Amino acid sequence: MGPRVDSVPSDEALPTRVDVVIVGGGIIGTSTALFLARKGVSVALCEKGHIAHEQSSRNWGWCRKMARDPRELPLAIESLRIWEGMNEMVEAETGFRTSGIMYLAETRADLARFEDWLDHARQYQLDSRIIGSAEIARRLPGIAKEYAGALFTATDGKAEPQMAGPAIARAARRLGATILTGCAVRGIETAAGRVVGVVTERSQIAWRASVADYPNRSSTDQRSNRTSSCDLDALKFDIRRSDDLAPFLVLSSEKLSELCG
Ligand SMILES: Cc1cc2nc3c(=O)[nH]c(=O)nc-3n(C[C@H](O)[C@H](O)[C@H](O)COP(=O)(O)OP(=O)(O)OC[C@H]3O[C@@H](n4cnc5c(N)ncnc54)[C@H](O)[C@@H]3O)c2cc1C
Repeated sequence: MGPRVDSVPSDEALPTRVDVVIVGGGIIGTSTALFLARKGVSVALCEKGHIAHEQSSRNWGWCRKMARDPRELPLAIESLRIWEGMNEMVEAETGFRTSGIMYLAETRADLARFEDWLDHARQYQLDSRIIGSAEIARRLPGIAKEYAGALFTATDGKAEPQMAGPAIARAARRLGATILTGCAVRGIETAAGRVVGVVTERSQIAWRASVADYPNRSSTDQRSNRTSSCDLDALKFDIRRSDDLAPFLVLSSEKLSELCG
């Protein structure tokens, strides 16, 4: 069993209207809340249980470029860049450290697979490299077994999954995001073919991005007087029903990456 997950109490009051409702308070939801809040977007995050109590606290916490699918590498490189400044950004401890990550090769065949992957790493000038038994022994003093070699990336690291999501959620809240726990989203409200809000187990939250009388928010937010550079009306939501997973809609947007940029 892993360490206990840091607790994030719920905000009491539900906002009646926000720019973005995030369903789920794992690492994806909390990070999305943080980066949107940093952009001045008003956000409500609805988590049915507690922050980071599901998969986001049940992993080994690796933050790595090494051995990634080549298609993921640009994203992994950017992710590591963000992780390196994460403790400062959230003004709290996520447990992130640039510890280096080593994959030990038991056989020559394992080592050959690592060497194959290095061909992909070279095009991104990653510092991943093959190391031999002398360096393995130096980096892992007392290691008893002989290995054929290892793939090692000094700039990879790890965070503490039980600390990271909660720390990020608290930072999002400091920047104005509403963090609601014990607040399952039960459905999506639509009107005239457009999404207008979500129905939670506590009450309804209207969604500003799709309200007809709210055509363009590229200048000043009347409600909060904050300046926002994003044009929420330009969001194009791809709405797909996710019948096999849960009785609610999956929302995604090509423009979200621009908002988070
Ligand atoms: C530090 C760290 C390192 C990682 N390293 C690796 C790695 O090396 N390799 C790797 O493959 N993965 C890694 N992961 C990823 C991890 O294993 C998961 O893929 C990831 O945490 C999933 O995040 P999530 O937010 O999508 O899902 P979850 O953590 O599962 O969060 C989803 C949340 O949604 C909530 N929810 C569901 N339905 C509703 C609803 N209707 N209403 C409200 N809430 C709802 C759930 O309660 C849950 O809390 C890492 C994660 C972290 C945090």
